[in-house]
Formats: sequence, structure tokens, C-alpha cells
Amino acid sequence: MSFTLILKVRICGKSLEPFLHRGHPAFLTLSKSPQLPTSGRFLCTRDLNQGGRQTDREKRGQTDRQGGIKSSPIRQGQGRSWGDAVGGKGKSASLRQKPFLPTSVFAAGNAKRTTDWLKRKAAMASKEKEQQEKKKELERTRNTVKVQPPARPLPAAEWKKLRESLGNPERFDIHMLEAILHLEGDLDVAKSLLTFVALETGTLPYGVLLRYLLICVHGGHDTEVFDVYEIMRKSFPSVDTGACTLFIKSFSRTERWREAIDILQEVKKIFLPTTRNYGDIISAAVQHGDMTTAWALYNELIEKGLSPQWETWDALFKGRKKTNKEEGEAMSHAEQQEKLLGILLSMRNNQIYPKHSLASTIKTWFESLAGQNWTGSWTSITQEGVCKCCGSALESIQLTDEEYQQLKHRVMSDVIQGRDVFNKTTPQELKRFEMFVKKKPAFDVVVDGLNVANMTLDRSRMAQTLLAVVTELELQGLTILVLGRKHMLNSTRSWDRKDMNLIQQKAHCFFTDDMSEDDPFLLYATLNSGNHCRFVSRDLMRDHKACFPDEATRRLFFKWQRGHQLVVYGYVTAGTRVRFQRIPSYDTIVQTAGDSWHIPYDDTEDRSTYEVPQRWLCLTKKH
Ligand SMILES: [Zn+2]
Repeated sequence: MSFTLILKVRICGKSLEPFLHRGHPAFLTLSKSPQLPTSGRFLCTRDLNQGGRQTDREKRGQTDRQGGIKSSPIRQGQGRSWGDAVGGKGKSASLRQKPFLPTSVFAAGNAKRTTDWLKRKAAMASKEKEQQEKKKELERTRNTVKVQPPARPLPAAEWKKLRESLGNPERFDIHMLEAILHLEGDLDVAKSLLTFVALETGTLPYGVLLRYLLICVHGGHDTEVFDVYEIMRKSFPSVDTGACTLFIKSFSRTERWREAIDILQEVKKIFLPTTRNYGDIISAAVQHGDMTTAWALYNELIEKGLSPQWETWDALFKGRKKTNKEEGEAMSHAEQQEKLLGILLSMRNNQIYPKHSLASTIKTWFESLAGQNWTGSWTSITQEGVCKCCGSALESIQLTDEEYQQLKHRVMSDVIQGRDVFNKTTPQELKRFEMFVKKKPAFDVVVDGLNVANMTLDRSRMAQTLLAVVTELELQGLTILVLGRKHMLNSTRSWDRKDMNLIQQKAHCFFTDDMSEDDPFLLYATLNSGNHCRFVSRDLMRDHKACFPDEATRRLFFKWQRGHQLVVYGYVTAGTRVRFQRIPSYDTIVQTAGDSWHIPYDDTEDRSTYEVPQRWLCLTKKH
């Protein structure tokens, strides 16, 4: 889609001339002439035949629109959405574990630190790649921003001269507008460029106007945004979604915020609005004290399966001090409080951790609740799962019997018997494994043999590494299952026969076909052995978590994993005992006991999705 606006310029070319020949930017002049109708201020007021020049419009519009949408600054927010569970007490660890929780593979920032370390280690290899990427980036930059915007608005003749001096490059106007956007240049310069384009070609291509709109929205020039909006609305049966998003953003920060709701309604007819679209209007409604609209839109956002942005929650918790006049119309305090606590519960159900700034807003909100006496403190949790601030015990990481049975059932049906498993293993092999497990006692620990052996970078020490881990577990008096691959039994440099024999003496062993995937076997053996059974692997099994269709099971699986996965601490060295990272005793999740809330929050940007925060907000109510 492009513009009948273009036609407008063509049709009205003559009538435009007086405006366009004033020797200074017409847009600037026109938009500052309030006595003219808005679209007239831009171009002309004559009504148009919208059916004309379709071919030209489509031809230019298609490519331009794609570029325009891609360059939109509006992005859909990413949210996590996992399931719900509550914890119960389980068996405590008897294994040697690293006594410092933050080194857990699930601790926030650990993945980033590991990545950094690996990066340094592989610096030589990656240097070349980095240089190639830099070169590509440089080429990209050269291609997109190869023009330097002038310091002041130019008359048409000077724009022409400037373009000629650059060798009349293709899409000069687009590149210039992108440069103005990129360098946060002067809006008047952009206006003068549009005047030049309109004068020279008699048209304003869609891409040109969209980039102008981007500059206006980015620069906070809402009056100009209104002008573009008027033109589009009058000229086209519908406006494209990228532009709608920009209009919603701009309108929402002005007194005309309610019009953003109308734009949202239009958007909904064509596609699913983004969480940001909703967020912009919700923030506006809150700002203007219309909590009924804010919550109605929030409910709609949730119903559509979108994850709210931090900013939206922040706005809802911050609310706005109401005037006396508004007070009577507003939603009751109790109703609002219930809705806000509902947000905290949804964070719990979806295993979402607020950022520090949002936690801070939540703290302020609690403390502001009249007559309720809440106190908020920043805290951390002891290894035993006790809040260092109020001394209360947090929910256990261990699954209750009911949760465990539920998870076991789902893993067996969705992961083990799920169709995708058989892409990597056969029903016959799984059957053979089931028979093997039946004949054995329940295991205390299941070792992902290949994964553990691969900890060493020295190929000749793989069996030795696995043996060291198995020996440590044997010293703990545990019944061990080692899952391996058949090739590990062929005596090779990596798989020393003597070591492999020792492993088989210390542990029950099952060797799968070399092409099989180990994880289903690992999950089956561990879950089948009971809630006490743990597994040793560095693999985080994120793929399996994704297999579960519902949030509740994904949440349970992650909780079970954190409570049952043993990760070897550091590297295995000859002569020293193997140590494991500590398994946390408590669940890292928003939790409440009525007169207290404990909210884990992010104080780092480095946390990967499978890691959990280490800092907490403790809220207690004094009686
Ligand atoms: Zn506490």
C-alpha cells in the first residue's frame, strides 16, 4: 500500500506551488499555520479519487513498506510463561556439594560468566570471525547511512545540488531520512527534504512518509505526528500496522490518548496488536486516572495470550494520585489492590522475576497501602532457605508427592512416549531399557556418562573423568546408574578398558545405540526411581521443557530439575575428590504467606532464562 497522498500532490501540484516556493521549508511553514485544515497545512485540501494510479502506488509502496516496518522501533516484548507449583519438603542432600549457592548452574549470571570464559579461551578462533562480522557491519552501515544530513533546512535547489554532489544515488531521500533518524537530526531538515521530494517528483512515496513519521515519533514531535495521521486517515481506507504502532505510541503520550484506543480497534481487525501497543495505552490511561480503561485493556492483553511489559506493570503499580473529583469515579482501592496482587500471583504462576526497578515500585506500593503497615526490605536467602530479613522459611525446592506424580506422568507421556523421542531412538531400545530398569533396584543417582566424560578437554582422560565422578558417588554409598553409548565399550584412547571395567563394577550401566538420544533414558530412569533420585549432567534439557504444552508442567519440570540435577563443580583433577554444585533447598519463585511476600528479582542483566535470581524483596506486615 502506498499513498493517494502521492496522487494528491500530483493532482494538486499547481495549488501547492505557492507553498513550496517560499524559499524555506514548506512543511515547517505549513504545519505552523493553524488556520488551515491539517491536511491542507501539509499538502492540499482537495478531495481525491482514491482509485487512481494504483499501479504506481503498489509498485513503490510494496518495497518501501517492508523497509518501513522493519525499521520500526516497536518490538513485541518477550515474556516467560511457565507453570505453577508449590513446594514440599523432600529428602535432604547427603552429597558433597560446593557450599556456595551462587555458583549453581542456575544462579543468575552464571551462563554469562561461563560464556565469557569460553570466549576468552577461544579468543584466537573467534577473532577472525569477529573481524569478519565487524567488516560486514561496516558494510551495512556504509550501505544504509552513507549520507550526512545538512546542519540546516535546505531549499529545494540546494537539496538537488547536494544530491548531485553525491552522484545522484538511488533512494537518496530514504537514506537521508534514515541518517536524520539515526543521528537524531533536526526535524526541520527532514521537513525541507520532504518539500524537495514533493516538488521534484510530485509525489511523496510511502517509505519517505513513514520514515518522516519515525523521526517525528522518535523525536517526540507529536503535533507533526497528528498531521501525518490526519493525512493518512483521510487519504486511505486503512493504514498499515507499522504506522499504527507509531501512532499509538505518539497519541498515548498526549492529551489525545483516547484516540489511540480507536487506532487499536482498527489494528485488531487486521492483526494481533503487540503487548507494547496495549502497554502504551494502559500507561496513558493510568496517567490520566482512568483505571477502569487501564484494567480493561490489561485484561484484554492477558486474554490474547500476550505477556505484559515491565513498563505496563510498573505503570499499574505506580498508579496516579487522584484528584478529589476523580476519586468518586475511580475503581475502589480494594478492587485495585486485588488486581495488583493478581499480577504478583501471575508472576508466580509464570515464573517471572521482576527487574529491580519494578520490585522497587512494588515495594513502594505495599508501603503506601493505608492502614496496612507493610515494610519492604532488600534481602537474600540462606542456604537453608531462610529469609535473612524476616527469618521465615521459603518454599522447598522439592516437589510434593502429588507434584512429583503429576510430573512423572507427564514426562512419561510427553517426553518418553512422545513421538519426537523416536526420531532419535527406537521403541525396541526403549523397551530393552524398561526391562533393564525393572530388574534393577531403584537408583539414587543417574549419570549422563558421555556428558560427564566430555567435561574434560583431554580426549585421553574421558573414561578417567567419568570414573572419578562414579567413584565419588560410590563413596557416598549411592546406588548409581551410568547411561552410556555402545562405542564407549570399544577400548580406544578415549575409553580405556580398565577404567570402563571399574565403572561397571561400581555402577549399573546401560549403553544405548550410538545414535540414540540420552535424555529420554536419563529422565525415565531418574523419575522412575522416585522423588529422591538425582541425575548428574551439565545438559540443561531446555528442549524437553519446551515439549510440555502447559505452563504448569514446564514450571514443575524446571523446579524438579533445579532440585535434582547435580552439576560437577569445576574440573575433575587427579588426586582430588569430585565436588558438586550445591542444590538449593528452596524454590526461587514469588511466594506469599498472607502477611508476608517474598519476591525474587533481577539485579543483573546477565541472567539466562534457565537461571534464577539471587536477590529478594521481603515484604512483611506488622500487626
Ligand atoms: Zn523475609
